[in-house]
Amino acid sequence: MIDFHCHLDLFPKPQAAVREVEAARIYTLSVTTTPKAYAGTKALSGPSKRIRTALGLHPQLVRERHGETDLFCKLLPTTSYVGEIGLDGGSDYAGSLPLQREVLARILRSCAATGGKILSLHSRHASGEVLELLAREPSCGIPIFHWFSGPIQDLDRAVKMGAWFSIGLPMMRSKRAAAMIDRIPRNRVLTETDAPFASTPDGTYPKNALLSTMDEIAKHWKCDTHEVRRTLLGNLTRLAEEKRKGAALGRSISLCRKAAAIS
Ligand code: MN
Repeated sequence: MIDFHCHLDLFPKPQAAVREVEAARIYTLSVTTTPKAYAGTKALSGPSKRIRTALGLHPQLVRERHGETDLFCKLLPTTSYVGEIGLDGGSDYAGSLPLQREVLARILRSCAATGGKILSLHSRHASGEVLELLAREPSCGIPIFHWFSGPIQDLDRAVKMGAWFSIGLPMMRSKRAAAMIDRIPRNRVLTETDAPFASTPDGTYPKNALLSTMDEIAKHWKCDTHEVRRTLLGNLTRLAEEKRKGAALGRSISLCRKAAAIS
């Protein structure tokens, strides 16, 4: 199974969460919310074959933590994975949007300058603006929208740009799930928990949420859960291949943009 957006370091018992992920053999993207947390979070998963740690600066923390953007840029060449980054236009965070835009633009510029990364993106109430900033840095890498909740036209635009999507249970159970899942190409879907913020009522690693998410996807794709599992693992393999190709990462968005312009 795959959990491509999980905050292992923020569980009440992070070591226990790592053990649960390992025991269940879940391929996990362990995202961070501040650059200062990166080293400790990476150490948490040790030499794990299935856990990758992403360097992040959460948009909801930008007001207090924007001073860590320098550290972010310094650490960036050491990793292929970035997240959680993005914009949050919700009423509690809209006040820091100008600063959030500045920080995200700088992060995307740095990602492009260091060969392109795999990016886990937060876009709550700001998907259009996140797309604008991504379009300005077509070599930033492969954007993966985590828990996309924006308007359908932004979803369509993200698909045209070559973006991927990590999908969790709250997204699958939303009213618009059917409309969204039908428009996302199956070869650009991964699953996520966003735990411990979502999917876990008791602070333990929510393996069952991943199983339920795959069941929900199977209903929409009109296939069985095994087929979903195969497709998702195939997607992850392809993503890893694109990362290995390195240079191809940065071309992903620009190629898709060209294709969209032609069609
Ligand atoms: Mn998150």
